[in-house]
Amino acid sequence: MYNIYDFELKKLENLLQEIFSEKPFKAKQIFQWVYKREVFDFDQMTDLSKAFREKLKENFCIKKPTIYKKQVSKDGTIKLLVELEDKNLIETVLIRYTYGNVACVSSEIGCDMKCGFCASGLLKKSRELKVSEILGQVLLLNDILKEEGNNEKITHIVVMGTGEPFLNYDNVMDFIRICNSPFALEIGARHISVSTCGIVDKIRKYADEGLQTNLAISLHAPNDEIRSKIMPINRTYNISELMDAVKYYLKKTNRRVTFEYILIKDLNDSLDCAKQLTDLIKGICAYINLIPYNEVMENKFKTSPQQNVRKFYDYLYKQNINVTVRKGFGDDIDAACGQLRAKEVKSDT
Ligand code: SAH
Repeated sequence: MYNIYDFELKKLENLLQEIFSEKPFKAKQIFQWVYKREVFDFDQMTDLSKAFREKLKENFCIKKPTIYKKQVSKDGTIKLLVELEDKNLIETVLIRYTYGNVACVSSEIGCDMKCGFCASGLLKKSRELKVSEILGQVLLLNDILKEEGNNEKITHIVVMGTGEPFLNYDNVMDFIRICNSPFALEIGARHISVSTCGIVDKIRKYADEGLQTNLAISLHAPNDEIRSKIMPINRTYNISELMDAVKYYLKKTNRRVTFEYILIKDLNDSLDCAKQLTDLIKGICAYINLIPYNEVMENKFKTSPQQNVRKFYDYLYKQNINVTVRKGFGDDIDAACGQLRAKEVKSDT
């Protein structure tokens, strides 16, 4: 049985052609029923012939994952533990900014990147997520917004939940295409961001996609010595290789890149680090997002004191670097990267 949610439009067109010799426009009709009118019963798709609907029913389902647990923070942030068909749990967050509703989605179950500071890596990767499982996270959040009755929807997507999106590249790209499609969720490409720890060959591939979506790089250190200590991926692709790929991306897309930089006490938050960071990104069309570290019980890293964050920020600002400090959301509900699932899965086993 195929799940409609696993297919972006072109792939559904091809599949319908291949298995039923049907014309491509039928896929568009199905998309509109499912995503625009939210009709999930093939029998109600009245502009499709009865015979075709019967064939669809025999071969396709329209199935979302389910909500296992929902936590709501004082600031309105919602964190979901989502249960997949095989009973695996993944997490998804809805963050409410003034400019819109942001879905932070997971791309894998667990993660093998072993970044020392990150709670997601506490659980080894068991598998990559299917398109329907990444998309299902957004659909469930849309259902919650619909229930609230304010006519709101998810307006922005960040692929920054658990997992390394560029190790599930094809499914993440298809997910993006469905989000962006005028026949489906119609979320503007510029409202969609993918964050990577630095899988260099995939950054180049992403640059070649011809998309208008955004790229964020988890940099977190201004030199190889510190970066290799906290992010093992740096031993495969060092900073200079990473920067070459970023420059390629910028040249190909004419867009800006975001560098995420977690500030961790006594590790990467000194003025000297700020100076090195400035030198590293001078001349690159970038913007730096400083993130006060969210402490994780299972490791020794501490969040940078406020005055260090301030000094670090001021230094970059004075060097004319585009820099912001990310505001924390949902601290009271373990919205810090991977914490909820780690707790839940541990207590279950
Ligand atoms: N694998 C991808 C996306 C998932 S992580 C990546 O590495 O970019 C999303 C972001 O959250 C990354 O920048 C990651 O480094 C950061 N992050 C992980 N743990 C964190 C923590 N405890 N506090 C703050 N940011 C964290």
